Amino acid sequence: MPSVYIKTYGCQMNERDSEAVSAQLVAKGYTLAASESAADVILLNTCSVRDAAEQKAIGKMRTLAAEMRRHRPEVVLGFMGCMAQSRGRELIDKLPDVDLVIGTQKFHRAADHLDEIFAGKRDKVVDVAEEQGSEATIREHVLNGIGASKPVTAFVSIMQGCNQRCTFCIVPDTRGAERSRTIADVVAECRELVARGVREITLLGQIVTSYGRREIPVRDGKSGFVQLLEAVHEIEGLERIRFTSPHPKGYGDDLVEAYARLPKLVESAHLPVQSGSDAMLKAMHRGYTREKYLGIIGKLRGVRPQMGVTTDIIVGFPGETEADFEDTLSLAREVEFDNAYIFKYSPRRETPAAEMPGQLPRAVKEERNARLLAVINEIGARRYENYVGRQAEILVEGPSKRNPARLMGRTRSNKIVVIDGSERHRGQLMDVKVTRAGSFTLYGDPAIINVE
Ligand code: SAM
Repeated sequence: MPSVYIKTYGCQMNERDSEAVSAQLVAKGYTLAASESAADVILLNTCSVRDAAEQKAIGKMRTLAAEMRRHRPEVVLGFMGCMAQSRGRELIDKLPDVDLVIGTQKFHRAADHLDEIFAGKRDKVVDVAEEQGSEATIREHVLNGIGASKPVTAFVSIMQGCNQRCTFCIVPDTRGAERSRTIADVVAECRELVARGVREITLLGQIVTSYGRREIPVRDGKSGFVQLLEAVHEIEGLERIRFTSPHPKGYGDDLVEAYARLPKLVESAHLPVQSGSDAMLKAMHRGYTREKYLGIIGKLRGVRPQMGVTTDIIVGFPGETEADFEDTLSLAREVEFDNAYIFKYSPRRETPAAEMPGQLPRAVKEERNARLLAVINEIGARRYENYVGRQAEILVEGPSKRNPARLMGRTRSNKIVVIDGSERHRGQLMDVKVTRAGSFTLYGDPAIINVE
């Protein structure tokens, strides 16, 4: 059977979609190639959030197409995911060597389409239609991937789509309207993962706090999302629950209170703020103010003082003045984020912000990006340094990426800790003493805890 290589751009949802497609292909008899050069099929799973991400994937496909045309013309080339969804056939018109374009509601059809291409029944396939029930098709996991031992952590997609309509964002168009899986379905998937050795699960969605808003009635004041957290929390053998990304609007008292009740829910929140200026938040259509956001952080830290908080911030949104930007700098200092992903605003087609007056030059975006990054790095370094000398519980995930001779795990607040240890520690919850802080990484010593 042919072998497939999938290269993924963008967010964790894309990583998860690629994993599910890989597992679905393996179930149909395809094999997973370790590299592009060994593959009979190369699929690029794409991101549309910024123009740079789209250009990167298009550039990569151009290089692949030229290479394959010269040396291995039989190789099947395809785009999947967000850019495939938003551009559809246009991608084949632009890059005629592309054989396959699969949208975000059609990942589960990848194997069928490839079968038809290999059987010679179809030449080119573009499948970007909407499909009812597609939110429940991202289910399979590759738990014994190429050379990988059994993973300790896993991502579970709980919903698809987004109804938020932030004025900068293309995602509602690429991912469609919000659709949630049932609680029973998500719990069944989590149970299977735990039975196969997974100890930590991250629930995934564009806006997880909107989970079940249409499908699951509020019960005892608890949203569908909180009901889901409770149900997943019941799973015996599961040690930790994370989720990403929530929306600040979704932090009702039921969710804040869930942190007090559910010990498996770890002290970590990735809470995209986008800007510290009320004028910008309004223009972005975010639905909260700076004060409201700070209030949520205060409540979360009130319940769990060790809460690690990370965020997404856009710099250079249309009309952002120096004073607006300084509001973002001051918000970053006030919250003391553990880390932040900073994005230079990128106009996306058919989004309201792309048509707004006051589009800023690239130099301004770059300068603000650099200034904000310096502040985020300074605060992050201080927060990481605070861990030194303290004890922390980590879940050991496997070899450290930078130095595979060492192990890495994460604290409940989502900080990576590198330790010395052996394979038998994988999957263990371990108390370590943090001995040193590097750049957004901690170094720990389990032995020191043991002798004390
Ligand atoms: N759903 C999450 C939310 O908005 O709360 C985040 C999902 S989005 C895929 C990841 C991040 O990309 C956003 O939080 C935002 O900071 C950034 N982003 C989205 N559209 C952008 C644009 N047009 N230009 C720059 N950054 C953008």
